[in-house]
Amino acid sequence: MTDFTPGSTYHGFILRRKEHVADINSEVYLFEHEVLGTPALAIKNADPNKTFCFTFQTVPEDSTGVAHILEHSVLMGSKKYPIHDVFGEINKGGLTTFLNAMTGSDTTWYPFASRNTTEYFNIMDVYCDVVLNPLLPRSTFEQEGWHYHKESEDAPLQLQGVVLNEMKGAFSDPIRSIFHHIFGGLMPGSTYAHESGGDPSVIPDLSYEQFVEFHRKHYHPSNGILFFYGDADLEQELAAVQDNFLADYDGPGTKAEVVQGDDISEPVFIEDSYAVQPDSDLSGKT
Ligand SMILES: [Zn+2]
Repeated sequence: MTDFTPGSTYHGFILRRKEHVADINSEVYLFEHEVLGTPALAIKNADPNKTFCFTFQTVPEDSTGVAHILEHSVLMGSKKYPIHDVFGEINKGGLTTFLNAMTGSDTTWYPFASRNTTEYFNIMDVYCDVVLNPLLPRSTFEQEGWHYHKESEDAPLQLQGVVLNEMKGAFSDPIRSIFHHIFGGLMPGSTYAHESGGDPSVIPDLSYEQFVEFHRKHYHPSNGILFFYGDADLEQELAAVQDNFLADYDGPGTKAEVVQGDDISEPVFIEDSYAVQPDSDLSGKT
C-alpha cells in the first residue's frame, strides 16, 4: 500500500493532512485538488462496505426547490449514461448496499456503498458523470419540477411534477410548514430562511433557464467535496476521479457562499396559519 506523505501529490490531489483515528480504527486523509481546490476526505480501514459520496454546496436563494429538483433531475441521465432511471438501472445489479441522493438546506449529497470492488468503481463513475455531466433536457425539468396538466380538454388546468407533488405531501404536515416559517423568522435574509426542498406555492416560479443555471453555478468540482470510506485502494479511488473527470477542467470554479442574513436582537413574533381537513373540529386546537 502507498505510504502517503503530507505535501505530496497523488493523482492531482495534494495530501494536506493524515491522521490515525484510534476511535474508528482508521487512517484519515484530507486531500485538496491541486487545480480545482476540491477537498477529498478519505477514511480508510478494513471495512468492506466501500462508500463514496460527491457533495455540493447548493445554496438556495429562494424557495423554488431548485436544488431538490436538480437532485432528482441529474439522476435522469448523463452524457456517458443517457438512461432515464439511473437508480432503477443500478438497483437491477443489486450489488449496492446503500444508494441515495439527499437535498439539505445548503448541501446536496450523492452517496452510495458497495461491498463489491468492481461495482464500487462502476457506480462511482456513474455518480460522477450524472452530477458533473447531466443531460437536463427541458422534459426532465417539467417532469421532475413542474408542468401544466389537463386530464381532458374541458378539465381544470392543474400543476403537476414529481417534486411539486412530493413537497405538497411534505407541506401537508403542519410541523414542516411551521418550521419553515420559524426558520424564516429566526434567520431572515439568510440561506436558511428558504425552503431548499421547495415551497409548493413557489415551485412554479422556477424557469427552466434558472434551473440549468443553478447546475452550472453549483455543480462545479470546486464547489464540491469528495468522500471515500472503507477498504478500497485509495490511489485507485483518486485516480478514477481525476483521470475520468477532474482532469477535464481547465481551472477552478467559484464556491457558493451561505448567506448569513440579518442579526436578530429582540424577540420576533410570527403569526401564520396552516391548512386542516375541511370537516376538522377546531375547538381547543392551536
Ligand atoms: Zn425528492
